[in-house]
Amino acid sequence: MENEIQNAVSERKKSCVNCGAELRYKPGTAQIQCEYCNHIEAIEPAQHDFKELELGPYLEKMGTTHHSEKVMMLQCKNCGANQHIEEHYKSLHCVYCATPLILEDAIAEDWILPGAVLPFQFDQKKSHQIFAQWVKGLWFAPNKLKKAALDPQHTKGLYLPYWTFDAQLYAEYTGERGTYYYVQVPYTTQVNGKTVRRTRQERRTRWSHTSGTISGFVNDTLIQASKQKPHSIPRKITNWNLNALTTFNTSYLAGFVTEKYTLSLKEGHLSSKQEAEAIARRWSKRDIGGDTQRVHNIMMRLSEETFKHILLPAYISSYAYQDKKYNFFINGQTGSISGKRPYSYWKIGALVLFIIVLIVGIMYWHETSS
Ligand SMILES: [Zn+2]
Ligand SMILES: [Zn+2]
Repeated sequence: MENEIQNAVSERKKSCVNCGAELRYKPGTAQIQCEYCNHIEAIEPAQHDFKELELGPYLEKMGTTHHSEKVMMLQCKNCGANQHIEEHYKSLHCVYCATPLILEDAIAEDWILPGAVLPFQFDQKKSHQIFAQWVKGLWFAPNKLKKAALDPQHTKGLYLPYWTFDAQLYAEYTGERGTYYYVQVPYTTQVNGKTVRRTRQERRTRWSHTSGTISGFVNDTLIQASKQKPHSIPRKITNWNLNALTTFNTSYLAGFVTEKYTLSLKEGHLSSKQEAEAIARRWSKRDIGGDTQRVHNIMMRLSEETFKHILLPAYISSYAYQDKKYNFFINGQTGSISGKRPYSYWKIGALVLFIIVLIVGIMYWHETSS
């Protein structure tokens, strides 16, 4: 069984022609490189641009076309992350919670092949520099955290799964257009003990019923394809520039971990529909015009729906501190960083104590010098 898995996984790997070692994707390039002798190979350019896939057939039946294939996946028993590791297994740990993964647990699963990948733009070394810089600036962080965050063992380059959806949107709406007007409102007030009459201006809205149609193209609605809450990526690091998407090639995954979508295409499609509804609402309001708008009813229709499965790069540092798991994230293209962090109550306590001592000291000094 173990051999079978080894073979299935290693089929996809490329080895160095000089020394037989593993070739890994070299961030920021279109090359794979041997980590021992530095031999470099170019990643074959794609024959054609990546296509959007028609949504309908995929929603009906998954995995029946040449766009999907079997891939070996390891599921974390602790947090549920489903990951594919495109490298020779040395030690296997879940990228999110650092739980050891067992090779024998790998199972072949259907995978809608990514249409496109956004390759990493900088290497792990650079990610450590960014982490180190950030950790240095963290106030009251436990020393253990600072050390853990800088441990290369805890940091992995991870390709995150996303669905993106395109569609032609058409909607009929009914609503009201509001126009502002102003009225003088009399009121009384006390001035020097006397009651006087004054007027002030107040804004009112005149509403008139309206209806209409809107239409347009909704491009690249991005839906993160991880179901697990702790895996949700902080908004702050989601500033990928999708113009740099490249046609998918497994070579870009070499040396990195790839997470498989746990949010199904169907569920992703549902979320994208909700986003489309929000867009239809915004467009309707713009169409209604006036000073303010009410939307009563929207009948929305999406057509020519297509989707892509894409992989986006992030470095993730995962570590446990006092039985809690913490993750830091760096955008693997832009270098944006974000993460939850614990506070060291010992350090905060020490500072508070120091301030009290300082105040008492100053008071004492005041007393004795006056
Ligand atoms: Zn080599
Ligand atoms: Zn896990």
